[in-house]
Amino acid sequence: MAAWTKHNLDGVVTLAPTASAYLTAERRALQDAARTFAMDEVLPVANELDPKREDIPRALQERIADLGYFGILIEEEYGGLGLGVFEYCLVSEELARAWLSVGSIIARGNATGCASADPDRRIELLRRSASGSWIGAIAFSEPRAGSDLANVECAAVRDGDEWVVTGTKRWVGNAKAADFIHLMARTREPSGDRRADGLEIFLVEKERDAFPRGITGTVIEKIGYFGLTTWQLELDGLRLPADALQDTGQDEGQGFKESLRWLNVARVQTAARAVGVARGALEDATAYAQARIQFGQPIAEQQAIRFMLATMAAEVEAARQLWYHAAWLVDADEPADVDAAQAKLVASETAERVTSQALQIFGGNGYTTEYAVERYWRDARLTTIFEGTSEIQRKIISDGLLRA
Ligand SMILES: Cc1cc2nc3c(=O)[nH]c(=O)nc-3n(C[C@H](O)[C@H](O)[C@H](O)COP(=O)(O)OP(=O)(O)OC[C@H]3O[C@@H](n4cnc5c(N)ncnc54)[C@H](O)[C@@H]3O)c2cc1C
Repeated sequence: MAAWTKHNLDGVVTLAPTASAYLTAERRALQDAARTFAMDEVLPVANELDPKREDIPRALQERIADLGYFGILIEEEYGGLGLGVFEYCLVSEELARAWLSVGSIIARGNATGCASADPDRRIELLRRSASGSWIGAIAFSEPRAGSDLANVECAAVRDGDEWVVTGTKRWVGNAKAADFIHLMARTREPSGDRRADGLEIFLVEKERDAFPRGITGTVIEKIGYFGLTTWQLELDGLRLPADALQDTGQDEGQGFKESLRWLNVARVQTAARAVGVARGALEDATAYAQARIQFGQPIAEQQAIRFMLATMAAEVEAARQLWYHAAWLVDADEPADVDAAQAKLVASETAERVTSQALQIFGGNGYTTEYAVERYWRDARLTTIFEGTSEIQRKIISDGLLRA
């Protein structure tokens, strides 16, 4: 049963976490710490910087690093928290409750860009990743390769001891600010209808706040998801050392398979982030409905508003239980494609609906930049698009269903 735990002068409330068999004492402690950090330190920054379309400040990234959130999935011996996908998503929901992009930045640490073939180098990178000094960008999508990622055309050609990479990458969040770019490119033409053959992952090491020679970046102007600038990158003869080719644990030319494996984790994490955004809107709308007086009483006294809040709360909880279950499957190493797709589909579509209803509860004030609810509404809209659109999730779910 939900109860109010916090109601400050800004009208910010947080609902107490629902009891769940998944939430051990350790997980509750992690959740509490992430919630306190998100509400006290992330939310004020989001409220100030999102309207100015600014990036997550370095100082905030350093706080995220201090709390260990760039290393949740990294073994303790390398400086990480040594926890699982469930804990990673638990923290992500809390961070996204305050600012979606902060829920996203931790996905650019947590061992991304650490798959070096050299074991010593791999350990060094894992340590840096866990400490927040190895934060990356992911460059998979292209102008002609979105849902159809196997259509990647960016070409990596071997030239002596180097790779020479040419092509265009689209939608690369955090590209300029990053320490590295995790890049998908084609090393050979596909054989027959096996279009993913020849796709590999490369590591582009770079300085923060700059692009290396061979990369030109252009900012893509978005309607939301501020905090992480999104770039289109032109790669024109970018030269990479031979060892930039990542060891994905797959056969040569099969790097795509590894990215598919990680997509399940990314989808569950996106579901958790979507639940966080939806929860932000629900909590704000609940506070607003109690404070806003019309016809001589709080609008929360109107059954129309109460029932809207009730449906929103039930849908947020249902979406949360789906990501809890999918994260548990991933941690248990069970097949999770369909469950991850279900969690992503339901959570993102719930977020879109719930944030829109929350904005409705705010009336005219919802349609201003004076309240955070408009941010939740804009950010929720993205969650049905990135990390695989709703249509692609439905395709995965129906393929599973019909196979069965
Ligand atoms: C703000 C933002 C940030 C992003 N960040 C990153 C990032 O950091 N790194 C990265 O690599 N990518 C990133 N992406 C890319 C994102 O993953 C793609 O936008 C997404 O996968 C959809 O691809 P697309 O935009 O090319 O749409 P398309 O694939 O062109 O789809 C257009 C429409 O057609 C539908 N459709 C396509 N194929 C099918 C099908 N088989 N069946 C039914 N319907 C279909 C889609 O669902 C959609 O409605 C980001 C995108 C955005 C908008």
